[in-house]
Amino acid sequence: MTDSPIRKALPDFRWERVETLRYKAEGSAPFRDVTRQVLFGGDAMRCEWRYFEVAPGGYSTLERHEHAHAVMILRGHGACLVGDRVHTVGERDLVAVPPLAWHQFRADPDAPLGFLCLVDTERDRPQLPGPDDLAALRRIPGVADFIRTGDETDG
Ligand code: MN
Repeated sequence: MTDSPIRKALPDFRWERVETLRYKAEGSAPFRDVTRQVLFGGDAMRCEWRYFEVAPGGYSTLERHEHAHAVMILRGHGACLVGDRVHTVGERDLVAVPPLAWHQFRADPDAPLGFLCLVDTERDRPQLPGPDDLAALRRIPGVADFIRTGDETDG
């Protein structure tokens, strides 16, 4: 049986025949409450289109890599670090993550942050910040508060 080209939307930002995975970062990279769904990919394309969702108060891994991301916020609101700036983002905003820009997404405490993310199928592995990278990021006004791990607010 051939798969239907249509996978209907389901409630709560899920889709037919798309598995919802707990986000697994490389190594012991810190993140909290992130799921991943791969919407499109496979051999006929050179890219993957994924949907990530960060639960309220959660955050993605702080990382960088040679490949770029094209992101559209689809649900909720929050903030993202791209390079050396933090931006507030909401539904339908577009976020361009250039090669080697440090980036991290955080959901606001009262809403999830769901976003579509387009990425090369063949891509380098994410790099995590070392102590020098973190020190440099923490010297940037506005960034220090943003890249806190969040552990102190886990209560
Ligand atoms: Mn990334």
